[in-house]
Amino acid sequence: MRKIIVQKFGGTSVADTEKIKNVAKIVIKEKENGNDVVVVVSAMGHTTDYLVKMAKDLTPNPSEREMDMLLSTGEGVSIALLAMAIQAQGYDAVSYNAMQIGIMTENKHSKARIVDIKTDKLRQNLKEGKIIVIAGFQGVTEDGEITTLGRGGSDTSAVALAAALNAERCDIYTDVEGVYTTDPRVVPNASKLKEISYEEMLELAHAGANVLHPRSVETAKLNNVPLRVRSSFKINNLGTLILGVDKMELNNPVAGVAQDLSQARIVVCDVPDKPGVAAKLFSKLANENISVDMIIQSYARKVSNTNDIAFTVDKTDVAKTVSALNLLKEEIGATGQIEVDENISKVSIVGAGMIDRPGVASLMFETLAQQNVNIRMISTSEIKISCLVDKDQSLKAVKALHEAFHLDSNEIADVKGDLPNL
Ligand code: ADP
Ligand code: ASP
Ligand code: MG
Repeated sequence: MRKIIVQKFGGTSVADTEKIKNVAKIVIKEKENGNDVVVVVSAMGHTTDYLVKMAKDLTPNPSEREMDMLLSTGEGVSIALLAMAIQAQGYDAVSYNAMQIGIMTENKHSKARIVDIKTDKLRQNLKEGKIIVIAGFQGVTEDGEITTLGRGGSDTSAVALAAALNAERCDIYTDVEGVYTTDPRVVPNASKLKEISYEEMLELAHAGANVLHPRSVETAKLNNVPLRVRSSFKINNLGTLILGVDKMELNNPVAGVAQDLSQARIVVCDVPDKPGVAAKLFSKLANENISVDMIIQSYARKVSNTNDIAFTVDKTDVAKTVSALNLLKEEIGATGQIEVDENISKVSIVGAGMIDRPGVASLMFETLAQQNVNIRMISTSEIKISCLVDKDQSLKAVKALHEAFHLDSNEIADVKGDLPNL
């Protein structure tokens, strides 16, 4: 049986017609290798940003339904152009949007999850020898409403299609040569990783490494889809393979460093210290579809028997969060201010090799202290430590951590075999 390869090309890879011709060549090469090819594309260049800007010029709070209607149009342009470019090379290609195929999502606008993908038509088209080009980032609900999967969501469309079609592999083509130890545009000395585990990649993506949409990694892990990140422009480079942790040799305690400048910190001050308050607060936010990341509750003050609850949310959710909290304040008996700080950054180190290795956290804190970086919040998982720092200290922190954990490109080759001293 012929193998199915799903390829995904991001905005910069299809930014103009010359680049679309280049993508057509890569697609055709895969077809010529004897594989069936399904291609997922994003909107051209910065189209989505431009559409967001136009909406914001009209109203500060556009409705989520209309935002989805608007943003889903970007991918409609690139699929048709890519299908034409492939046809121009003498190959049979057909483009589809998510509604035509049935990329079914839950009934939530702006960050919907895919629940099912209909594959009958796709399989029929592949049987007929067609190359299929599909719009990423968009979906449709049972009621025929158009949804989107959240910014960067085309990666998730591609992996979900690969899972539904039982594809051999999902290749994410982008503007860098793979996954690096940190964003190579921020730290030019970053090293390209030959491989990384789903678990580490998931944490890195959540921590701000936007080379992959977090849910794409989650979907790949869940369905065991082999995932590769590679360059659209240097196709001889094999890129980075993302695979199960059991298949990896863990040499370095830390695989990568990431920063996330897209969050804001909210503090609800003087909240009564009694059972049920946090439950009420966070269920209210969950009902509003607001995702909360780091959470800290301070010790209760003895005299007033109150504490402060601090947490982070996406900057785009700040207005929604503050109005939800204002409605809730009285009900939970909070008497203090609601403080918002948008000048923050979350800096994280991630590595499956840090499990059971004391010294990783202290090296992180010491490194930040040496740089005079103040830590405002800390959160950890088994394979990740995140510190919230001031935005203007973020870059300094990332560079120092990258160096302290021996991730610079002149050092990474040396970590094979012996573990670096912490
Ligand atoms: P696309 O449009 O192809 O989806 P994105 O801009 O979403 O591309 O993702 C690619 C970008 O991710 C790179 O240009 C790079 O700046 C950024 N990035 C952040 N962290 C990393 C990392 N650890 N490794 C590689 N790229 C990273
Ligand atoms: N075009 C969408 C965005 O810019 C989806 C994507 O590129 O993955 O967020
Ligand atoms: Mg992307």
